[in-house]
Amino acid sequence: PDPAGTSVSSDALRVLRRVFGYDAFRGDQQEIIEHVAGGGDALVLMPTGGGKSLCYQIPALVRRGVGVVVSPLIALMQDQVDALKALGVRAGFLNSTQDLDERRLVEAEFLAGELDLLYLAPERLRVESTLSLLDRGEIALFAIDEAHCVAQWGHDFRPDYLALSALHERWPTVPRIALTATATEATHTEIASRLKLQDARHFVASFDRPNIQYRIAPKNDPKRQLLSLLRSEHPGDAGIVYCLSRASVEKTAAFLTENGIAALPYHAGLDAATRATHQARFLREDGLVMVATIAFGMGIDKPDVRFVAHLDLPKSVEGYYQETGRAGRDGQPSTAWLAYGLQDVVQQRRMIEQSEGDPAHRRRLAAHLDAMLALCETVECRRVQLLNYFGEPSTACGNCDTCLAPPETWDGTVAAQKLLSAVSRLWRERKQKFGVLHIVDILLGRKTAKVIQFDHDQLRTFGAGTELREAEWRSVARQLLAAELLAVEGDHNTLMLTEGSGEVLAGQRAVKLRRDPERTARAAGKDRA
Ligand code: ADP
Ligand code: ZN
Repeated sequence: PDPAGTSVSSDALRVLRRVFGYDAFRGDQQEIIEHVAGGGDALVLMPTGGGKSLCYQIPALVRRGVGVVVSPLIALMQDQVDALKALGVRAGFLNSTQDLDERRLVEAEFLAGELDLLYLAPERLRVESTLSLLDRGEIALFAIDEAHCVAQWGHDFRPDYLALSALHERWPTVPRIALTATATEATHTEIASRLKLQDARHFVASFDRPNIQYRIAPKNDPKRQLLSLLRSEHPGDAGIVYCLSRASVEKTAAFLTENGIAALPYHAGLDAATRATHQARFLREDGLVMVATIAFGMGIDKPDVRFVAHLDLPKSVEGYYQETGRAGRDGQPSTAWLAYGLQDVVQQRRMIEQSEGDPAHRRRLAAHLDAMLALCETVECRRVQLLNYFGEPSTACGNCDTCLAPPETWDGTVAAQKLLSAVSRLWRERKQKFGVLHIVDILLGRKTAKVIQFDHDQLRTFGAGTELREAEWRSVARQLLAAELLAVEGDHNTLMLTEGSGEVLAGQRAVKLRRDPERTARAAGKDRA
């Protein structure tokens, strides 16, 4: 009943100080809170650690009724509610982990007007009994957390989120605030349209995380590289290591443990109790390393995560940004380190080629991967490239690996032609296709068993590339694959030419390549010290 004005504003500040114990609002918090407390709808895009929770918690406390918070993070609800209760906020949650009695109790509190905040899993809102429960109480606002889960092509899509557009139809006068840390224009637009928030006020914070140092290193022995990073720069620090597969999660966690680093595995193949224990230990104990698939991390509020390491290439820049964003929520210097190599490109291109779904879906996956590859292969500032992807202009940061040790570029046209013609000759003269490692053996003139078996030492391209070392050839191949001047196919990842390859072979197209630094991690670490 109180329009946005001085009294909402002083109420909000009083709640911030008395309940949460903070002195001042950060960034857009005050404006967002006043807008929602005054009854307006809002779409909030703010990076991880930006302080999104207060944007709905304070309006819920200032307005009459209960703030209903929709969140997919069932595993965290108990913690969130406990933390609020410790501050004297009356909070409860309803989700599938509760038994009937627990649920009944929370429902009774809600109806008696004894709650300030009620957290709900999205699937609860598909149940008519929950909707009619909400009808019988007074609702202060709806907060839709992790709102990017409504984006169908996003990396965290949850079908239950699609039903949330109905909230507005059923309760047209209740203000809604949707919040996310995912920021591309496309996701942003999709959230607004799917949640019917086109008329909401949009608050877009800067996505820069200045305390995170971004580094992408050539992958050669990823577990060893990781170990040396942890020993030299992050001894005793808490961090997250992301791996693509469950098997590599297990292996990496075991490897770290054998080497004296306290590490725990986390992936969807572990039973729920083990996952919950590992998550709780990571949150509560100091200096644990969580080795995980991307199943881990959304909503984890651990301020002192000092590093996020990726041992495999993320599928999109959005995913990379989300995952690396879990480092340094406390604002202290933190590292985002990714090891990236030829096999990552081969594997991901192949996975897309073999993925289910229509061609449009595959094109979209490929576009996401291309943006991620461009970030890996860039010779410019990583941060500029990253923020640019989210439509945010910026200038070179001076703190990422490419700023600290600018990579050289070289004219790789002749090298590219040699590699492509080795592939092309095998096909034209012998109708044979091989994987990249064998092609490199041919270029280097190595008489391996396979070379002998297929008489490949008789090819004109045999030994034609001795001016480069093996690592350099792999780098050439990786960059050609990233630029789609070369492609992989089939179960054996055999190489084949693309339209672009023809232009390179015909001398119509020059190929500028990045010279990979030898030891990116070390060099950047030293420069910083
Ligand atoms: P997000 O959900 O955007 O990732 P959170 O809401 O979890 O971020 O907030 C991140 C951290 O910042 C939390 O520890 C929170 O208590 C703290 N925080 C939020 N707003 C403020 C503020 N105005 N002053 C001080 N600390 C704040
Ligand atoms: Zn930079």
